[in-house]
Amino acid sequence: MKENLTTFLDEHTQSYADIAKDIWERPQTALNEEYAAKRQSEFLESRGFRINAVKDVPTAFVAEYGSGDPVIGILGEYDALPDMSQKVCTERTPIEAGGPGHACGHNLIGTAGVAAVDAVKELYDKEGFKGTIRYYGCPAEERYSGKILMQKEKVFDDLDIAIIWHPQDITGISRKQYYSGLTMMKVEFSGETGHSVAAKNYGGSALQAANLMVGGINAMREYIWDYHRLHYYMSDTGQTANLLSKSTSVYCETRATDVDVLLKIKERLTEIAEGCAKIAGTDFTIEMEDELYSDKENSVIVEVLKHNLQLLPRPEYTDGEKEFAAKLAETLPEGAEKKVASFYNIDKEQIENHLHMGVVEKDDLIYLPADDAGNVSQQVPFGTFLISLPPVGMPMHCWQMTALAGSSIGTKCMMRAAKVMAGVVYDFLTDEKLVQEAVEEFNI
Ligand SMILES: [Zn+2]
Ligand SMILES: [Zn+2]
Repeated sequence: MKENLTTFLDEHTQSYADIAKDIWERPQTALNEEYAAKRQSEFLESRGFRINAVKDVPTAFVAEYGSGDPVIGILGEYDALPDMSQKVCTERTPIEAGGPGHACGHNLIGTAGVAAVDAVKELYDKEGFKGTIRYYGCPAEERYSGKILMQKEKVFDDLDIAIIWHPQDITGISRKQYYSGLTMMKVEFSGETGHSVAAKNYGGSALQAANLMVGGINAMREYIWDYHRLHYYMSDTGQTANLLSKSTSVYCETRATDVDVLLKIKERLTEIAEGCAKIAGTDFTIEMEDELYSDKENSVIVEVLKHNLQLLPRPEYTDGEKEFAAKLAETLPEGAEKKVASFYNIDKEQIENHLHMGVVEKDDLIYLPADDAGNVSQQVPFGTFLISLPPVGMPMHCWQMTALAGSSIGTKCMMRAAKVMAGVVYDFLTDEKLVQEAVEEFNI
């Protein structure tokens, strides 16, 4: 019975809370997550899962239980962010000055997935399920690369359904899109060095070419729409004014909600780079450092996620937790809560002690930060959702988030996500037709 999932998760909350806290206490940045990967894979192995390493990605793994079709997978993450070390308290107090911290709550993301597959596994033999349950330990989300590296090793090729979640300042589900796509393009101009006064008639300054490129990027901003962004930075701009720079790079980051628009902007940036090199009389090379696609939500999976989200009872917080959240909310810029509440059409009754208590449903929860999960969504049927963790209006990647990810509010958030995902995996494992519908929609 499906209700047994919730009972099992409630009874075993402490073991999952311990995993999440152990990872929180040993934060490791992208591709250095040895401890997190080991802690989770050893736990799942002890629970009877087969553990498969991923070639050339040492901090990734795939845990599997059962066999045959359908193959239902939860994507987990566990990397921390540099300089986000923070104690569980309401003032900026790093545990280690300059050290990393879980300011995006990835210690909770991965561990909720571990808990969900563990609960479904518990029922698997008892209820005679058919099919395969997988947990993907995905490193380096913060560097946008983990799932793409894993994708190259073909670990998602036979997957029928992929789900992931993220803590956020709201609980919600998007029917169409959540993450935007992102490209990071490195344009390196190379010219000739020499005394600036004696510069050749036909140019050759890499810095000049780079400056022109920045002008091109700024001009392009006039022609791109809402929810599209262009950012840049430059490196190797030279050492003295009286010497032409030999090599200067411009890193252009593009964010767009539509894959076609993203690729079109990339094409335009390539043309601009070519033009700038011609004007300045330099050579240029282009290297794509990241290419992330916006997520493609599968409506069949979204409906199943929505159904399971609605089964969740309203969250309950202790007086201490309410006080903790209220103190952190005081650190928000003025009007932040109101702005987010109005963006998502959240009624006042749905916010208690600054925390979101309801479920937002929108066609899109356009959220400009990108995620490498979007690339997986372009490969297999995919769905994602959000569970409320910080006060409404608080963004990710701040010390307050590290504090929350290590607190009991974090554990509650994680266990709510685990319950939703366990329910979703159960629904797909026990309803072959549902899997077919999701796959058919993906293949259109
Ligand atoms: Zn993040
Ligand atoms: Zn994140």
